[in-house]
Amino acid sequence: MKVYFLGTGTSQGIPVIGSSHPVCKSNDPRDKRLRVSVWISWENHSFVIDCGPDFRQQMLVSECPKIDGILFTHEHSDHTAGLDDIRPFNFRQGNIPIYLHKRVLESLKRRFDYVFETVDKYPGAPSVEPIEVVNGQNFSIGDKIAIPINVMHGGLQVFGYRIDNFAYLTDVKTIEQSEIEKLKGLKVLVVNALREEPHHSHFNLEEALDFIKILQPEKAYLTHISHRMGFHEEVQKQLPENVFLAYDNLQITI
Ligand SMILES: [Zn+2]
Repeated sequence: MKVYFLGTGTSQGIPVIGSSHPVCKSNDPRDKRLRVSVWISWENHSFVIDCGPDFRQQMLVSECPKIDGILFTHEHSDHTAGLDDIRPFNFRQGNIPIYLHKRVLESLKRRFDYVFETVDKYPGAPSVEPIEVVNGQNFSIGDKIAIPINVMHGGLQVFGYRIDNFAYLTDVKTIEQSEIEKLKGLKVLVVNALREEPHHSHFNLEEALDFIKILQPEKAYLTHISHRMGFHEEVQKQLPENVFLAYDNLQITI
């Protein structure tokens, strides 16, 4: 399975608009971070997790040729605002399955009402096939099984997903022991780490590293990163040897 990091930044992206912070001014391409998303693919299967405001640009840069489905983690805009840009895939493929919590579907129906219109729907509007994700109920994507992982983003429920020995968890602040049990024996864990200072709804670096110590994946990649985390080059040097800061356009094979 190939994992392509389409975006690794927190909700504003890096650089932040109008910011003169040194990380926002950095010339290192690894310090430029679009909003978080990954593209996972194997054989002829191709899925993305989340579809944020940078989706169009991410699809162009990665040259993603098709999408068999979108797995949503939660409804926040940095994870969903790109939904309108799935249209080129619709024109070639038809409806795109979207896997999501019932609450997230309700949110999308309010915010993208025209996508879900059943009467006189505008020709050319995006078209999706919603598939409800329920915690405790694994589902198939292509010929693989996806295991939903229930986590909390402050007071908001968020789904992470495990597929084989890979797990993607973003916007986590707390996680129950029963969910941790589903994450044993990972080859690759992707988890959010916002910055060094604590945050009410995201792991900071220390919390993410503690979490990685508990799970002991072979390798861990940090994502959903703020400019306040610091320069990629400098932060990477301080990390344990099996922990890496992800960066946009990084591709790994599992
Ligand atoms: Zn987010």
